[in-house]
Amino acid sequence: MYLNIIHCFHCIFYQFASWHNVCGTAGNQNGRGISVAKANVDDFVAAFRREIDATASACVGCGKCYEICPITESAGVNGLDSTVVTNGIRDILSGGDINQNSRQWADACILSGDCIESCNYGINPRLMLTMARAISKERTHNEKERKLEGQKAFKALGAGVKVLSRMQLTAADRERLGQGGNIADSDEKSVDYVFYTGCNVLKTPHIALLCLDIMDALDINYTVLGGPSHCCGILQFRAGDMKTSTKVASNTIEKFIRTGATEVLSWCPTCQVQYSEFGLPTYESATGIKPFEMTPFVLFLASQLDALRPLLKHPVQKKIALHLHPGISGLPRAARKLCDAVPGIEVIDLNLPEIGLMSNSLSTVPSLKKELQSQELAVAEAAGVDALAAVYHADHRELCAHERDYPFRVINFLEIIAESMGFFRDDTFKTMKIKQDAEKILSDCANMLEANAISKDQARPIVETALLGEQPVPLRGEKFLLPHKAFLFQPTVD
Ligand code: SF4
Ligand code: SF4
Repeated sequence: MYLNIIHCFHCIFYQFASWHNVCGTAGNQNGRGISVAKANVDDFVAAFRREIDATASACVGCGKCYEICPITESAGVNGLDSTVVTNGIRDILSGGDINQNSRQWADACILSGDCIESCNYGINPRLMLTMARAISKERTHNEKERKLEGQKAFKALGAGVKVLSRMQLTAADRERLGQGGNIADSDEKSVDYVFYTGCNVLKTPHIALLCLDIMDALDINYTVLGGPSHCCGILQFRAGDMKTSTKVASNTIEKFIRTGATEVLSWCPTCQVQYSEFGLPTYESATGIKPFEMTPFVLFLASQLDALRPLLKHPVQKKIALHLHPGISGLPRAARKLCDAVPGIEVIDLNLPEIGLMSNSLSTVPSLKKELQSQELAVAEAAGVDALAAVYHADHRELCAHERDYPFRVINFLEIIAESMGFFRDDTFKTMKIKQDAEKILSDCANMLEANAISKDQARPIVETALLGEQPVPLRGEKFLLPHKAFLFQPTVD
């Protein structure tokens, strides 16, 4: 999503950037003749600062984005003068005083995107609030603190992804997911698509592997990149470390360019928003190069429905409800369309609010998240669904263990599509999480830990926090524990 006003800025800056490339910063070209520009990190930061200035100038502080925002009450900033709050955001961007209500609103943003359509001035208010968070952070924390915070968050993410993925994946599957082995950074390969996993889906690898299985069945020419070595820069961005964030994001963009792909299919909505609203526009401004399109995988898959439909051969006689978030425009509709194409499936609407980008984006409003998830589980039970099917990996991490206590499965929606296509991927993350016992999980995974030279002491804190710790709605407890086999589907695939 580009801002109209930013487009004007792009035009001016484009001239400079093109000249800049001609004068020696342009790098090699990929197989499709797209340059891998080696712009200076200061160029990227300068480009982003110009976007911030342009946004601050274009916003008239009309307040419409605040008025439509679904989380002002949960964020504790409800009922304020909308023009004061939004002018406060403009002030933050342009170096004025920090209005605490405006900052509180920006900090609580769950990236739902409801505000995007409301702006009559061509601004993306979601991006404007993201900018405000970064600038506020810059002004209240010194450079060293911001850098350290970004490093700490990156280290924690890397450790979680490494340990949890290695507890579940064979070396061959890790390599297939672009981790270790022959990571496809080569200039020689030329593919149509990059499948970009992002980082955290590697904690629930059956979801990422299902994406690849489906693409293979569709005969898509792709390569896989992702994991912490292909970071989108979001953690450094959140910490207000703009320099490292832009450097990391542009390095990853250049790795994508080298594959020769014209389109990057992103799995993770956080990566999608980070690149489409910040990373790619900044890269284009700084280099004059528009390197590729980035498309959410689910939208891509829905666009392939004509080719997919003949592969949906096995009826799946189940009643399901979808757990959805609206942050990526059109995605809930695409997920419903894909499920509706599965023969035998009945998709019912629970008529509950859908908000935020993904479950973890609601962490800024924990009470609201807990309330929504509790309500959803109760309504799904009352509706007699066979499965509650989420789209994203973070949703799955937070919800899957409830399968232990409710008379329905908690799955990823791709499992339905895969079942109809005749294949199955074991959900090892859910199997571990349902055990609810760190020591048992560690001993059951002893072979995988040993094979990957990870000690139990290294893995234990990860299991306790990144696996068992993400549980917004507490499990019901032993008295609700049903005999597992009584309600689990057995895979019906060949
Ligand atoms: S971003 Fe748009 S909707 Fe929000 S206050 Fe500014 S001009 Fe109004
Ligand atoms: S993205 Fe959603 S939560 Fe954030 S400001 Fe816009 S409407 Fe509010």
